Amino acid sequence: MTVDRACCRCEAPLSEQERVLVGLPFSNSGPGGPPLYACLPCARAYARSVLAPPWIGEEIANTEARQASGRGDPP
Ligand SMILES: [Zn+2]
Repeated sequence: MTVDRACCRCEAPLSEQERVLVGLPFSNSGPGGPPLYACLPCARAYARSVLAPPWIGEEIANTEARQASGRGDPP
């Protein structure tokens, strides 16, 4: 498994299956930087924050589904 990002809150290393997209930075003039990822527990905590994007619940559900169905599957 590839670990290419760490959780933006607890800094745990995240595989593609584990990570939850929690933020997409935007700026007025061009790309706003890399997307932010968190682990599931942190994403669930973040989802209760007023700063959380409205789609975060969907991202958490997607990640849970990916972990449930993707575990051990060949590519
Ligand atoms: Zn975390």
